[in-house]
Amino acid sequence: MFMPVGTQATVKGVLQRDLEVELGIQILLANTYHLYLRPGHEAIRRLGGLHRFMNWPRAILTDSGGFQVFSLNSLRKVTDEGVLFRSHLNGDAHMFTPESVVDVQLAFGSDIIMALDECLEYPATHETARLSARRTVQWARAAWQHYTGLGETASSLFPIVQGSMFGDLRAECARQLVELGADGYAIGGLSVGEPRALSLEMVEATVPLLPRQRPKYVMGVGLPEELPEYVARGVDMMDCVMPSRNARNGCLFTSRGKVVIKQAKYRDDPSPVDEKCPCYTCRGYSRAYLRHLFLAGEMLFATLATIHNLHYYLDIMKDLRQSIVLGAFPDRLRVIRAAPGGED
Ligand SMILES: [Zn+2]
Repeated sequence: MFMPVGTQATVKGVLQRDLEVELGIQILLANTYHLYLRPGHEAIRRLGGLHRFMNWPRAILTDSGGFQVFSLNSLRKVTDEGVLFRSHLNGDAHMFTPESVVDVQLAFGSDIIMALDECLEYPATHETARLSARRTVQWARAAWQHYTGLGETASSLFPIVQGSMFGDLRAECARQLVELGADGYAIGGLSVGEPRALSLEMVEATVPLLPRQRPKYVMGVGLPEELPEYVARGVDMMDCVMPSRNARNGCLFTSRGKVVIKQAKYRDDPSPVDEKCPCYTCRGYSRAYLRHLFLAGEMLFATLATIHNLHYYLDIMKDLRQSIVLGAFPDRLRVIRAAPGGED
């Protein structure tokens, strides 16, 4: 599955109705860091939890907040207890601990919650990465103990495998986390500027060590052409801001490559973004109209473009799932790999 990103409890520019009915999305990702700072997890709990708050009846996965703390905050202090940081909104000091991050996500009522992890910058030395992965394991154990100590909850907790770009550290981290017997496992710390071949290599070093029967989630990937490659390596779940963010920036993914909608060649183009796409946008709107909306700075552009890009991603995943069910995935993968930039 591919999970669209709804950072602030909204996939920017798209109605929940369209996410549910038009796109058939089963699960969304929302960001703990942002929702913890504003409006706050206690407010969301009082308002009936994240599902009711954002009017989303289907599943929600929230991340641990770790990635944002490490990417948005230059003023932060990491200790064995957790991470001290300042709000990027008003500078207030906050602390995330393995336990508090579980509590925040349970207050949201998220279906899948993530354990606090340390996200390293790329590149990092082996020694830095080793210490960081060790801390991530300690935090995951503390999170797990706290979570299981609360008794039965409606949420599943996934620990996150770290270890920067070192296969031995990834493997060691995975082995230790598997001892927890969690419902699923995530692979984090990728898509941080490393070459794509290295991301895939790290996934290859990790997935075989994770339980076959549990979902495996690679965080923050990827490009459309990368999705089949992760699936081929045993990955079940992915999320990425790419389809929605690129849509807002005027970049549309199609079966024949990217369409940069502001280009003059689309000025009089009556065809849809992608002839092969059955999405709401492609059923009714021309490239010329979309280009006009984009250049005029109209809000509707973001909505229509995001619907198309998400549909494109979800279609790729649907195609892969079908081929797996039919036992035809290896053949399908060969066809996809042989057709760079599209299948025409
Ligand atoms: Zn479309």
